[in-house]
Amino acid sequence: MRTFEINKLVRHNVAAMTPYSSARDEFKDAKGDMIFLDANENPFENGANRYPDPQQRDLKELIAVQRGLATSNVLLGNGSDEVLDLLFRAFCVPGKDAVIINPPTYGMYKVLAQTNDISIKEVLLDTNFQIQPEVILEAVDAYTKLIFICSPNNPTGNLIAKDRIQQLLDNFDGLVIVDEAYIDFCISDSLVKKLRDNPNLVITQTLSKAYGLAGIRLGICCASEAIVSILNKIKPPYNVNSLTQSRAHERVSQIAKIHLEVDTIKDERAILHQQLEKLSFVSEVFPSMANFILARVDDAGLRYEQLIKQGIVVRNRSSQALCENTLRFTVGTRKENVQLITALKNLAK
Ligand SMILES: *Cc1c(COP(=O)(O)O)cnc(C)c1O
Repeated sequence: MRTFEINKLVRHNVAAMTPYSSARDEFKDAKGDMIFLDANENPFENGANRYPDPQQRDLKELIAVQRGLATSNVLLGNGSDEVLDLLFRAFCVPGKDAVIINPPTYGMYKVLAQTNDISIKEVLLDTNFQIQPEVILEAVDAYTKLIFICSPNNPTGNLIAKDRIQQLLDNFDGLVIVDEAYIDFCISDSLVKKLRDNPNLVITQTLSKAYGLAGIRLGICCASEAIVSILNKIKPPYNVNSLTQSRAHERVSQIAKIHLEVDTIKDERAILHQQLEKLSFVSEVFPSMANFILARVDDAGLRYEQLIKQGIVVRNRSSQALCENTLRFTVGTRKENVQLITALKNLAK
């Protein structure tokens, strides 16, 4: 295993700070008949009058076990967007440090970098939408702290080759963040197994897509214990509310139900792919490992507007690098997909 010094990477102010200790942190093992007069809560019970568990222990245990990890390797956040923001705030000095992103990709990496005043180097994906490790490593300098990889990638839908990610892990002294928001829709396993041998790997996942819980905001970060404890120092103490914790726990316990939905979405994805390929104004349909399909059309702006007129909203991704005249279609229900295809066939006439 390579040597990797996380303490050299963390911001000095974060390394030096003592985390806020909440009332619930200080008395976390209390159960049963204790009288809680420590957190200035309203004592009248209504199901949500108490502060939530700051470490989300029940939910985290379940999520960790499902991934073959210890709870010390898992951090939960208010959506993966919060987890990504915590990574910036723990490791990147505003006005000084830099990150690398690989367009076309998820827009939040750039937004979070800009919010935190971190400069961005963009290394485009190649024409197969794969990352280019040599070019990325050439772009790295002493200030480059994080490299963001999205796999399966949004908006292109493809997986990023594991050997290319490994090349970055082996040769970069900062953190490689692999965003696996869509991992449950694809045949390839998560990179979670690689955590043990790669101390600079961070994996983010979410309940927003395959788990069908975008509304409750629950993001997952899997990383070394050292990285997780740094993020724990700076996270807001009650970042995952109690309604989210209980709803997520209920859903994550019903893994068979989720697999059924995911299988249905994958079947629908295959049908949608075939149908899109038949349309005269569609020139290319990109194979997808996610719950959406990117397709190249003759005039994306026009087709987008025409679909709106028929009551269907898709995403125009034409402004993204390498994505000229592309639309991104989320896979819906059988009925929704039939309506989409019918609408598209009308346009083809
Ligand atoms: C949808 C999506 C997410 C989800 O973010 P949440 O904040 O967890 O809802 C993360 N990454 C990518 C690439 C996405 O497309």
